[in-house]
Amino acid sequence: MIIGSHVSFKKDQLLDSVKEAISYNANTFMFYTGAPQNTMRSKLDEEKNKEALKLMKENKIDINNVVCHAPYIVNLANNKELDKYRFSISFLTEEIKRCEALGITKIVLHPGSSVGIDRKEALKNIIYALNMVLENDLSVVICLETMAGKGTELGINTEELKAIIDGIEKQDLIGVCLDTCHLNDSGVDLNKFDEYLEAFDKKIGLNKVKVIHINDSKNIIGSHKDRHENIGFGTIGYSTLVNIINDKRFENIPKILETPYVGDTDDDKNRLYPPYKYEIEMIKNGVFDMNLKNNIRKEYKK
Ligand SMILES: [Zn+2]
Repeated sequence: MIIGSHVSFKKDQLLDSVKEAISYNANTFMFYTGAPQNTMRSKLDEEKNKEALKLMKENKIDINNVVCHAPYIVNLANNKELDKYRFSISFLTEEIKRCEALGITKIVLHPGSSVGIDRKEALKNIIYALNMVLENDLSVVICLETMAGKGTELGINTEELKAIIDGIEKQDLIGVCLDTCHLNDSGVDLNKFDEYLEAFDKKIGLNKVKVIHINDSKNIIGSHKDRHENIGFGTIGYSTLVNIINDKRFENIPKILETPYVGDTDDDKNRLYPPYKYEIEMIKNGVFDMNLKNNIRKEYKK
C-alpha cells in the first residue's frame, strides 16, 4: 500500500517533509514548495535536499511516488486579465522547475476557474497554457485534479478532463489526480466506483490516473462544496474509501490523505492535531474506529 498525506515544506524544505511523513509511518507524501496562496519561494538548499533523498532511501520512500501540489493562486482558465494569465503560466513553470530540481516527478494541479468567461473558452485557455508550460523541456507529469464544482471550477467531470487532455501535445506529461471528496461532491456515487472507472477508462484511460487523494466529505453527493472530512467520519464512509485504497488497479499509485487536522472539539476552528499517523494505521487495520478523533486528542495531549 502506497499511502501518505499532505505534509509541510518548512525551513529545511524537503528534509522537513520527509521527516514529517516518516513520523506518520507513511511511504509517500505531498507538499507545496511554498505557501500555496502566495508567490514567495525560498531558494532550494542542495545539501538539505541530498539529506532528504538519503533519508527517503533509508525509509523506502520512492521519490517517484512523492507528489508536489501546485499553488492555488495559479489559474490557467481565465485570460480576461492577460497579466494574471501570463503570470500563472510562468509561475507554474517555475514550480515545475523546482520539482525537477528536487527530483519530484508529479505535480497536482487544479485545472482552474472560468470566472465570468464561457466554459469552452476557459478549457481552451487551460490547454494553451499547459502546452506553453510543457514546451519547457521538463520531465514532471502534470496531474489534473478532479474538482467538486465549487464556484466556476473546471474539471468537474470526465468530459471536461478529457477535453483538456485531448488538447495536450506531450501526452506522456499529462495525467489525472482523482480526489474522492471532490468526486462525491461533483455527483459521483463512489459506491459505484467500478461504473465510474469504466466510463473513465473508455474516455481517458485508467493509465492516466497518477495520484489519488483520499478524503471523506462533509457534504452529500452532488453538493459542489469541497469540504474534506476525516476518513470514515463523512458521507462517503470508511469501507468505500478503503475499497478504493485497496483497489488492485491502483496498487502502484500513491494515495494521499488531505483530511483536516483535529481540534479539541469537533467544531473547534483551532485545529492543532495532524490525524495522518492514526488514519493510516486505521486504514491498514481495515476496521473503522469511531473514537479515532478522541484518541488523537488524547495522544497529542500526553
Ligand atoms: Zn485533493
